[in-house]
Amino acid sequence: MRILIVEDDTMLAEAIASALRQSAHVVTRAASGDEAERLLVPDAFDLVLLDLGLPRVDGFEVLRRMRERRVKVPVLVLTARDAPGDRVAGLDLGADDYLTKPFQLPELEARVRALIRRAHAIASSEIVHGPLKLDMAGRRLYCRGEPVELSARELAVVELFMLREGRVVTKQQIADHLYGWEEGSSSNTIEVFVYRLRRKLEPSGVDIRTVRGMGYLIDRPAA
Ligand code: CA
Repeated sequence: MRILIVEDDTMLAEAIASALRQSAHVVTRAASGDEAERLLVPDAFDLVLLDLGLPRVDGFEVLRRMRERRVKVPVLVLTARDAPGDRVAGLDLGADDYLTKPFQLPELEARVRALIRRAHAIASSEIVHGPLKLDMAGRRLYCRGEPVELSARELAVVELFMLREGRVVTKQQIADHLYGWEEGSSSNTIEVFVYRLRRKLEPSGVDIRTVRGMGYLIDRPAA
């Protein structure tokens, strides 16, 4: 998933970014409120981690303005201020969850997974698609109980397809997911990538279907 980290503490931002990248997320960082505002256009991110104490424009203001502009991305507020008043204000302004510093990275990662699942209205950390089962927490894909060997990038794209089953995923959306992993994800690169992935999923009988001129999709499994 594409995650924006808005945090002016460079060391903390780097630690979070590196943990999330290890889980195959595509991470962008902003070190101030105004920088975050420039990046926060509709559909740019799947999740925002937002610090409240930021230079120039603070986190509350960033949150208030993005909700005003109808940027609906889920927001996890990170803050050292543990006053209950701040928590309530953040939630009232449209934050989806709250984490008080200092926190442990595994807790942050668990909350990130929960918010992504909630955003996709999925009740558990597993997505089942016919014989395939994706363990989002453990970052593994299984076919009839047997692990499927996939790279982190391939797994991220399988996750994208499974979260949007029955809906078209455009090449651009795939490129956005691969951005940061591979320089210049050209249209051709994506085709080769999807071709390889399709081959790996072949034994499961699940097909990544090409929708001409639009992109790819995996069909909802037959009932
Ligand atoms: Ca701060």
